[in-house]
Amino acid sequence: NDRNDTIGIDDLPIREELKGQSPYGAPQLDVPVQLNTNENPYPLPEPLVARIAERVAEAARGLNRYPDRDAVELRTELARYLTRTGGHPVATGNVWAANGSNEVLQQLLQTFGGPGRTAIGFEPSYSMHALIARGTGTGWISGPRNEDFTIDVGAAEAAIAAHAPDVVFVTSPNNPTGTAVGADVVERLYEAAQAAKPSLVVVDEAYVEFSHRPSLLPLLEGRPHLVVSRTMSKAFGAAGLRLGYLAAHPAVVDAVQLVRLPYHLSAVTQATALAALEHTDTLLGYVEQLKAERDRLVTELRAIGYEVTESDANFVQFGRFDGAEGSHAAWRRILDRGVLVRDNGVPGWLRVTAGTPEENDAFLDAVRELKKEQD
Ligand code: PMP
Repeated sequence: NDRNDTIGIDDLPIREELKGQSPYGAPQLDVPVQLNTNENPYPLPEPLVARIAERVAEAARGLNRYPDRDAVELRTELARYLTRTGGHPVATGNVWAANGSNEVLQQLLQTFGGPGRTAIGFEPSYSMHALIARGTGTGWISGPRNEDFTIDVGAAEAAIAAHAPDVVFVTSPNNPTGTAVGADVVERLYEAAQAAKPSLVVVDEAYVEFSHRPSLLPLLEGRPHLVVSRTMSKAFGAAGLRLGYLAAHPAVVDAVQLVRLPYHLSAVTQATALAALEHTDTLLGYVEQLKAERDRLVTELRAIGYEVTESDANFVQFGRFDGAEGSHAAWRRILDRGVLVRDNGVPGWLRVTAGTPEENDAFLDAVRELKKEQD
């Protein structure tokens, strides 16, 4: 009997800290305009699709063998990309890759966090940081932010000194607020973290290609406990590929080898990512269009009468609605007009991903009507 409805998850002998929890995931609803998961709205260009087919066919001929466990060719190309665009020389030995930056972050917490250890993030921020902490048995500390969603450096330094966490997360640009963090802030938090422990500081730059500001990669110089994590899910328009990576001191790359599964990155994934990297310039062209659309969303939302948080990402946080109930009601009203945005649980605020100009127009029409209703 493989189905007994009287048994639920919590009746199973699962870990205590997982009882009563729900899995992470935005609602995947089938509506015409989906602007809820910070995806890139542009499908990969046809010449790239053809190149992927070619490289995957080549990889398929060797699928009887395990893939390159160290993904050397891919890490070399990722290093080349970072060196070209990040303002800092990066070598193959500085780079590690995994199935999405979520797996990169998980490997980091498996290595530097774990039972009896803690990690801190400044919230609201990317909620998977806390969830991956939980999944790896790492204690989670919720650090503060200012009213305007920038990091309160003094309060952050105090929290790091008080808790002496093993891992410090800094998300720049931050999700869901869009807020970029200055190099001076990361320098100060790194100093505080080294004085308190020393701990690993992870800068999550999933959205950095959309920023008005340069990458924080140059901060790696002389900071062996700093890690910058990146992804091909956003700027490269390849969320379905599942390819994330990090840049750090080679010793950090050696350390994550202790927890990575052997052959975690399939030959098909490596071949696809390599094909996408051959088309970097075209894909970064789409990023420029999305940045312009993001800036247009900010301007038009303000013109309609909404409050908007300054954004350096491919999404915009807007409000304000009347607390958590107000933002949820507004989310519903926008959905009723065929547009799916994200309620990240920040009371009074919603988040919209920059889509194509047509999708953004549909969103702006919906929130214009909503505003009329509310006035
Ligand atoms: N970091 C941040 C800040 C994110 O918003 C996301 C995706 N929502 C990720 C990491 C993970 O992305 P992926 O696993 O697709 O690389």
